[in-house]
Amino acid sequence: MKDSNFLKEKNARSLWHPMAHPADSLNNPPTIVTGAEGVRIRDVDGHEVVDGVGGLWNVNLGFSCQPVKDAIARQLDVLPYYSTFRGTTNDVIIELSEVLREFYEPDGLTRAFYTSGGSDSVETALRLARQYHKVRGEAGRTKFLSLKKGYHGTHMGGASVNGNANFRTQYEPLLPGCYHIPAPYTYRNPFNETDPEKLSALCLQALEDEIAFQGAGTIAAMIMEPILGAGGVIVPHESFMPGVREICTKHGILLIADEVITAFGRSGSWTGSRHWGVQPDLMCTAKAITNGYFPFGAVMIAEHVAEVFEKDTSGAAAIGHGYTYSGHPVGAAAALACVAETLRLNVKDNAAARGAELYAGLQALQGKYEAIGDVRGGEGLMTAMELASDRGSKAPIDKQTIGTVQEVAYQNGAMVRVSGPNIILSPPLVLTSEDVQTILTALDAGFAAAA
Ligand code: PLP
Repeated sequence: MKDSNFLKEKNARSLWHPMAHPADSLNNPPTIVTGAEGVRIRDVDGHEVVDGVGGLWNVNLGFSCQPVKDAIARQLDVLPYYSTFRGTTNDVIIELSEVLREFYEPDGLTRAFYTSGGSDSVETALRLARQYHKVRGEAGRTKFLSLKKGYHGTHMGGASVNGNANFRTQYEPLLPGCYHIPAPYTYRNPFNETDPEKLSALCLQALEDEIAFQGAGTIAAMIMEPILGAGGVIVPHESFMPGVREICTKHGILLIADEVITAFGRSGSWTGSRHWGVQPDLMCTAKAITNGYFPFGAVMIAEHVAEVFEKDTSGAAAIGHGYTYSGHPVGAAAALACVAETLRLNVKDNAAARGAELYAGLQALQGKYEAIGDVRGGEGLMTAMELASDRGSKAPIDKQTIGTVQEVAYQNGAMVRVSGPNIILSPPLVLTSEDVQTILTALDAGFAAAA
């Protein structure tokens, strides 16, 4: 094994990281992870910590999920790749489609279109939404609506519906015809409304107003995360997603649920949409579908949307979209094993129970440390703290302070993620209460050092 300094130097010399300034690797070298077991990761220096990030919201079953590893190895032996473009398919992807059909039956989703990850899933859903309206003879429905603070990946379509300038500005011009609605974000919103239910009503009214302004007949779809993840775990009031569903239905607008994070149990329910009692028209999934062990994703399609495509006789419904890795047999085998394990372990219940412990622990830390302006979560294992340098004015925290919290937490046993002013926690769903305590104790040490 090469030593840490040697690897850091090579890392800075030869690769660029997503979501980082290229010079960061030199000035602030990343942690070099060389091994992982259970819910713990190990760095090149042999230091082991609980992974409060869960890889990147995706390693729901931890790093030692043998059935998924075995399934990948077996499939590599039998059929390592074949295309699912018109004319060929494979046995594993057929089996997976039947399993997913059953898994998503309560969400009303009965067909799958496969992708290589979350951004691909978003791009696919946006394209299918436009095509759906064209097939139905409403070619004028081309625009998209989404939430400010929403995150929908990095393809040009996804970036266009993203609601955070950091992922947009340097890549403009993006897709025309994308409009953003205020998110139900109680800590900061244009209405200065702190009551979640009232804020939900205001945001729904803003959606209605935007639809009226644009003209309902010009809008293809509204895309949203049931709980906003990367934007800092913004949990809407329970009235919000049902309200969006109702408005979309009223105006003939498709509702795309971006569940790249929330599908497969993270919200404490099997899907975020189900959590709020909503059936979307299209659902984007990826990440935990293979426990992060293989790049893979799927767009799930509602029966009534599928019928529009399948009954078309004009040729307009032929899908001119897809990826070399759509329906990859190794991804399919990984997903089959992963869904089986996810259900066998019933991880959604552990996500809800451990999530409640983590959320309560973070609230206790907020009572102790002035820097914690807001604590969000309470629905499964997705929680965030928004740091402020002053609670009254909510002035954002400086980079150095939040960096100290993260670094000292790491030294004390937990990897946590910093995104802007937020510390985000999205650990594996197989976490124990002891692991939750480890994360909380490590963060306590981090805040004490930064205070
Ligand atoms: N959509 C949501 C809600 C996400 O959280 C992410 C990634 O975090 C994506 C889309 C993009 O997924 P990927 O990074 O796999 O392309």
